[in-house]
Amino acid sequence: MTSAATPDSFNQSPPFEDIDLFAIDRPLVEAVAFNEGSSAFVAHSNFGRLWGSAEMAQRGRLANENPPVLTTVDASGSRIDRVEFHPAYHELMTHSIDAGVHNSSWSAEGKPAGGASEVVRAARFYMAAQVETGHLCPITMTRAAVAALASQPDVLAQVMPILASTNYDPNFAPWSAKRGMTIGMGMTEKQGGTDVRSNTTRAVRDGDAYRITGHKWFMSAPMCDAFLVLAQTDGGLSCFFMPRFRPDGSVNGIEFQRLKDKLGNRSNASSEVEFRDAYALRVGDEGKGIRTIIQMVQLTRQDCAIASAGLMRSGLAHALHHARHRTVFQKHLADQPLMQSVLADMAVHVEACTALVMRLCNAFDRAPGEASEAAYMRLLTPAVKYWICKSAPGFLYEAMECLGGNGYVEDSILARHYREAPVNAIWEGSGNVMCLDVLRALSREGDAAVTVLQTLMTETRGLPGATQAASFAIKTMLQPDSERVARQAVEVLAMLAAAAALNIVHPAHAELFARTRLDSVQRRMYGAAEFSFAESRGLLDRALPS
Ligand SMILES: Cc1cc2nc3c(=O)[nH]c(=O)nc-3n(C[C@H](O)[C@H](O)[C@H](O)COP(=O)(O)OP(=O)(O)OC[C@H]3O[C@@H](n4cnc5c(N)ncnc54)[C@H](O)[C@@H]3O)c2cc1C
Repeated sequence: MTSAATPDSFNQSPPFEDIDLFAIDRPLVEAVAFNEGSSAFVAHSNFGRLWGSAEMAQRGRLANENPPVLTTVDASGSRIDRVEFHPAYHELMTHSIDAGVHNSSWSAEGKPAGGASEVVRAARFYMAAQVETGHLCPITMTRAAVAALASQPDVLAQVMPILASTNYDPNFAPWSAKRGMTIGMGMTEKQGGTDVRSNTTRAVRDGDAYRITGHKWFMSAPMCDAFLVLAQTDGGLSCFFMPRFRPDGSVNGIEFQRLKDKLGNRSNASSEVEFRDAYALRVGDEGKGIRTIIQMVQLTRQDCAIASAGLMRSGLAHALHHARHRTVFQKHLADQPLMQSVLADMAVHVEACTALVMRLCNAFDRAPGEASEAAYMRLLTPAVKYWICKSAPGFLYEAMECLGGNGYVEDSILARHYREAPVNAIWEGSGNVMCLDVLRALSREGDAAVTVLQTLMTETRGLPGATQAASFAIKTMLQPDSERVARQAVEVLAMLAAAAALNIVHPAHAELFARTRLDSVQRRMYGAAEFSFAESRGLLDRALPS
């Protein structure tokens, strides 16, 4: 409706919807291809069209505007501990699970699916993250849980027939009676998240099972069918499979205290929870809880990086789309030299992040058979999570600003992306913890890690600043007080790996990335890097077809 005071709107960008999130993203298409995932192109495009549709955008919006609600007791005062989600959340879950984003990197028996299954799955995770990231929390935890369950083959064999299905079944019922299942994770307690050794939750043996009593300060996706939980035993900190129902069909002793009121990630429920004699099965040996659950965390860290890269891709695409439609001073924003510098600088960052996450996923694919890829995966997973996830909030702020005031209001997806971005850097090991993990990998697997660094040097030979960056990273990580300067070293290591990954996909853009990131004093603002007009055009045309 218009009035004399409010004319028909003009010079506003049209909605960026009903697009194929795969086909329009050349950096993604090529990163997937160069990392051996091209066999799934048709399926990726189908997925890209579905997730790029106006309907999915609407579902993402609704799921976040109508956050989950916890009901602890029923009308008669009996505990029920249920969390209700908006139908849009269930629809997002249905589509992600239908495409196997929660399990496709595993065989039906819970072994690595082989081929390029990690890269193929990552491409879908990357696209889904551009639309709605909250629901990806149970999706990532479910697929990652299989790696920890591998330590307890009898439990894995029981759950795989249900977990391997592509049905989403939100019914509140024992997992064994369902058409599909999801799995969450409970590690963090009030007195320590990073320092899980300080966990006080206690597990006591009861026949073949255990009874667990204690609390978790954060336990997301509480309507999962089971959780992998850490608790102390006589043998030390151990990992457990804790289902929502006991084997006799009664509801397990899992009582949710409240849901967190979060900055973002609003479609996802994150609970505070108490366990009261909760039934659980042990996963792995007593005392080996950290070693067991780290198998899961390695995979959720990988997904944090993929999701942050996806969020930044979405920010860039929205910014570029807007700048190509919006006219300021008789010229499209995209043709204003200073805006072009900002967008091109952002485009080279996203292109490098995308190439890097796909290269990392390729290492996950090849690690079971190639020691050098296993070493790449071990050393670089924390570095990639650190660098990509920490860059996302600042990047999304910049993308938001490209839309001017429209970027700041809730009609645009950028406000939601901006709120969402920090969590990937915080959970699954916060920034400092990732840096310390890189140092740990270097000290424990020194020779293999040094070989990874030497390979990165070979793969970046000739790129501006690469040799100096590599020697800086090695020297800094090996110096006696390396903890103090670990952030500098890990950032450079990740950027070196990004340059190497991009050099395989698009050498000219790897050169631009290296010139502006490795070969110069680090500039913190997008748009401060210097590109020629032709270089900017090359980056932007590739980022989003005009
Ligand atoms: C939305 C949300 C959902 C979550 N869902 C779950 C869940 O489902 N399950 C679960 O188990 N947890 C969950 N968490 C918890 C999350 O994993 C932890 O918050 C995170 O691991 C950090 O732990 P912490 O909060 O105890 O902080 P701390 O461990 O106290 O860390 C605080 C800061 O200190 C830094 N730090 C820690 N150790 C060192 C060191 N040695 N040197 C230097 N710096 C250090 C960290 O990097 C961090 O910046 C969730 C968190 C959020 C925000």
